[in-house]
Amino acid sequence: MECPVKGLCCYFSVRFGNNNIMTTPCIFLNLHTNLCSIYEDRFKINPLCLSIEQAIEQGALPKECLYIINNKKYQKRLDVKKR
Ligand code: SF4
Repeated sequence: MECPVKGLCCYFSVRFGNNNIMTTPCIFLNLHTNLCSIYEDRFKINPLCLSIEQAIEQGALPKECLYIINNKKYQKRLDVKKR
């Protein structure tokens, strides 16, 4: 299944209460393809890159992300939105 958020999980965000406002994209995100340009080595090269588990815990994923679309606890949060 095709990713419905297409790179939006690779934007930095600022947290306001339960909401995350997306700000700027990661420098390794290719904005034309919406794919990571260093995917295989991302955790080695970019210490700020989150694993899926960390991203869920920190509320850093848009609600349409397939990893959390059926996660009722996560879906109760306000959404991660692009400013
Ligand atoms: S390094 Fe991590 S946050 Fe940056 S584009 Fe790649 S997967 Fe996304």
